[in-house]
Amino acid sequence: MVRLAENKHYSENKLTQSLPLPLKVYLPLIQHLGKICNPEVKVGDTVSLGQKIASITAHVYAPIHASISGKVVAIQDWPHPVLGRAKAVVIEGDGQDNVAEFHLLDQQEIDKLTAQDLRKIVLDAGIVGMGGASFPTHIKLNPIKPLDTLIINGAECEPYLTADARLMVEKTPQISAAVALIARCLGVKDIYIAIEKNKPEAIKAFSGAPGIKVKVLPSDYPQGAEKQLIQNILGKEVPRGKLPFDIGVLVQNVATVYAIYEAVYKGKPLIERIVTVTGSCLQNPKNLLVRIGTPIKNLIEFCGPLKEPPAKIIIGGPMMGIAQYTDEVPIIKSSSGLLLMNKNEAKVGDEDPCIRCAACVRGCPVGLLPCQINLASERLLWNLTREYGAGDCIECGICNYVCPSNRRLLQTIKRAKLEVIK
Ligand code: SF4
Ligand code: SF4
Repeated sequence: MVRLAENKHYSENKLTQSLPLPLKVYLPLIQHLGKICNPEVKVGDTVSLGQKIASITAHVYAPIHASISGKVVAIQDWPHPVLGRAKAVVIEGDGQDNVAEFHLLDQQEIDKLTAQDLRKIVLDAGIVGMGGASFPTHIKLNPIKPLDTLIINGAECEPYLTADARLMVEKTPQISAAVALIARCLGVKDIYIAIEKNKPEAIKAFSGAPGIKVKVLPSDYPQGAEKQLIQNILGKEVPRGKLPFDIGVLVQNVATVYAIYEAVYKGKPLIERIVTVTGSCLQNPKNLLVRIGTPIKNLIEFCGPLKEPPAKIIIGGPMMGIAQYTDEVPIIKSSSGLLLMNKNEAKVGDEDPCIRCAACVRGCPVGLLPCQINLASERLLWNLTREYGAGDCIECGICNYVCPSNRRLLQTIKRAKLEVIK
């Protein structure tokens, strides 16, 4: 664990505001781990808000929904915040927000939902892990072993980000209702919400929430990583190569839980999310409710003017986020933050050779050899990266942070991880 400058002061007390409707949205057909979806609309089609526009027959996927009403004007390659480029459905808005018909459940029907019903609602709503992982949530709600513990992850340990903190304060009853529903459907007895001590308002909001134990964590990084959370809260270790459900635990990010609430109680698919727009380059950092597919230039303009040109634009936080090359790139389901860093904050510059100082090895919270995986990955030696345990990397970015040679360790390890778990 490392102690980082938190830099949450830019936005932590800013109430969530809705970003005005974009004129166009760019909805990538892949916003999840798994198979890319196929479009179910064509150019010229009129679409309603919340209408399903892309899906696929596969096990691991999440459908995509229109985040504004209007007309499909293109299906084309477009910048993607994680993949660089990907095919996207482009919708030109009509400014009307004409809503597709959602089937609304009454409280009696909600009280009778089974685990299978819940999974279907979550799948139909296109919900994925919104803390950055993008793993389809309906699969996480279908563990192959019985669960005894549910941990709601409200740690938000990445510096600068405050979207989850705002959500916990502004939507406490809704999150509590969804937590109770998930726990009932999955037969879970023990429920925790994990919150770092730097979020006193959120801690207060959940103190006394029925059936939920609040676990206050130190503000260390990466406190919010699943395996670290489980170790800290339950004192249990998830063995290397295993997942939390192997030891009877389910961890859900707090924004994902809120999306489940919206799907169950309002029949609403995942078409918007809270994004922290922050950094020293911005005059007015904010927490914004943003339609999925909105280009980041809209967010920057709304939080501007710029105090100085950014040296680096990151979607996500400074440790795990991904630097962007264009402001045309859209917000997707997993985009929790948009960070504009000046040249003093951004670690820009050339890579130097590894000096074998082992700082990355000492810093790695899961005991990997980042320098070795990096070298193997650069040489495309995927079997060797597997032997070094690349698949267990939690993508925390500490190795990058501590490396005196400015090596791009995380980027190459992420690439290796994709190859290893293909
Ligand atoms: S190898 Fe992965 S888990 Fe280890 S420090 Fe680097 S990013 Fe974090
Ligand atoms: S921290 Fe950087 S320089 Fe040091 S061993 Fe790791 S990769 Fe090499």
